[in-house]
Amino acid sequence: MRRINLKKASVARSDTIRHINRQIVLNYVRERSPISRAAISHETELQRSTVSLIVDELKDQGLIEEIEGESTGGRPPTLLRLRAAGPIALGVDVGTKQTMLATCDLAGRLIDRGSFKTLPDADATVEKIIECAGRMITKGRGVEAIGVSVPGLVEPERGNVIFIPHYRWRDWDVAKRLKQATGLPVRIDNDANAAALAELWFGRPEIREVRDFVMVLVEEGLGTGLVFDGQVYHGDSGAAGEFGHMTIGEGAPVTCAAGNRECWEAFASERAAVARYAKLSRREEGATFSRLVDAALGGEEAGRAALVETGRYLGVGISNIIKGLSPEAVIVGGEIARAWSLISHELVKAVEAYSLCRGMKSARIIPSTLGETPRLMGALSLVLSSKFAAVTTA
Ligand SMILES: [Zn+2]
Repeated sequence: MRRINLKKASVARSDTIRHINRQIVLNYVRERSPISRAAISHETELQRSTVSLIVDELKDQGLIEEIEGESTGGRPPTLLRLRAAGPIALGVDVGTKQTMLATCDLAGRLIDRGSFKTLPDADATVEKIIECAGRMITKGRGVEAIGVSVPGLVEPERGNVIFIPHYRWRDWDVAKRLKQATGLPVRIDNDANAAALAELWFGRPEIREVRDFVMVLVEEGLGTGLVFDGQVYHGDSGAAGEFGHMTIGEGAPVTCAAGNRECWEAFASERAAVARYAKLSRREEGATFSRLVDAALGGEEAGRAALVETGRYLGVGISNIIKGLSPEAVIVGGEIARAWSLISHELVKAVEAYSLCRGMKSARIIPSTLGETPRLMGALSLVLSSKFAAVTTA
């Protein structure tokens, strides 16, 4: 039971129920498409006439469309699905190496893509994003809003980037300037939070049913996104989910972004895996995480050992999160998901070994299915989720 927040509560107006029912019908079309009006009415127990009114409204607003179903003898039934009518959202994923942009339709299908090497200068990167976004918005008429995911600390409510450790950028005004330049609303969040949101809305079906899970995003650094009761938990000033900097040991192979060798990130990030690989293969230079994964999947022992050890440390950290938060599932995302067949055994073994004192079985640990672009899907989800989400009144 939730205590009502009197500072944020909006009292129920006469159209509140209508709005809730509209979102329910829209989500039925999204999740069960193609679906008939009768089926929606049956499953929601809303009256046929109410469903028809809502469907007309959603059609008028360009959110859903009718298609012809297969005939079972008589007239073919009319079914509903999300309108596949070109781009509606633009996503910007600011990475530590590449900045990727993409437009997508209402169902999250990518339409147009672009990328450039992220520049070490904050202002130059904003200029480049504005230039690239401008081109894609002109090409993809219909884009309604922009979502931005960044590898750092963000206050999503204020649209403010507090700090990007990799580049040491403070108070980065990317959202404000992108909004000024394009005239479109801009939503921004930390990359792991955005990826968690993408799992919630566009992940594999069994995750969409889960309302409490943790997303562990393994990259140059290591971030986590927390989903409680079907929404991302941000904490004070958006700073929740910094489990990458929890202390899990001493003498890690690299330092974390803040220079410590005790943090989870220093043991279990891509950089940690690459450092282990360089030591084991005695190749000090030239190894990237992508090449390490390729080598390991190709059967190279040093690569395999470096990944398995990294998987074990991922498991150590995940066991701590499980003990504290008791999520239903933990999702591991980033390129490391490509090597799941190599690391999962050791990872799950470590989680189970260190979770014993909890006295109950561990959460499900699964690799992300968002592919190689969890952050980009996250950026797009910042826009798309707002189309489907329920209004919060308390
Ligand atoms: Zn740290």
